[in-house]
Amino acid sequence: MQCAKPRFINITVQIAKELRNVKFVCNNSDLGCPKILNYEEVPGHADQCKYLPVKCQAYNKCKTKCIRMEIEKHQAVCPNLQVPCIYCRNYVERMNIIAHEQEECTGTYTCGKCGMVIIKEETQKNTHNCFNALAGYL
Ligand SMILES: [Zn+2]
Ligand SMILES: [Zn+2]
Ligand SMILES: [Zn+2]
Ligand SMILES: [Zn+2]
Repeated sequence: MQCAKPRFINITVQIAKELRNVKFVCNNSDLGCPKILNYEEVPGHADQCKYLPVKCQAYNKCKTKCIRMEIEKHQAVCPNLQVPCIYCRNYVERMNIIAHEQEECTGTYTCGKCGMVIIKEETQKNTHNCFNALAGYL
């Protein structure tokens, strides 16, 4: 009986060589990804493919799924996405934000830099002279 080990190695080298010549299309090719990949490139590409289907951050409500390249465009207008109120800094669904700002917003928030409580009028007129923000320029 001869030791089969060297042959085995030769076969794996052969397989590796052949794999290197095989081209793969991206998993998301039917969604439009034009990439043709080598075997080694497949895992890396999956992480950064712009055509990967992703869910909107508000998927629970809006049920929107689209390719990664488009999701930011969708989220910029998604009525279900939570956006921060400029007055109280609480997150409110985009479709309710105007009503929130006009009606229910208490309008105050605490400045993260100086700890001062800032009221709605100050935010509107942008008159908060933040001591700590100014201190950065001194
Ligand atoms: Zn791809
Ligand atoms: Zn959405
Ligand atoms: Zn608010
Ligand atoms: Zn401040």
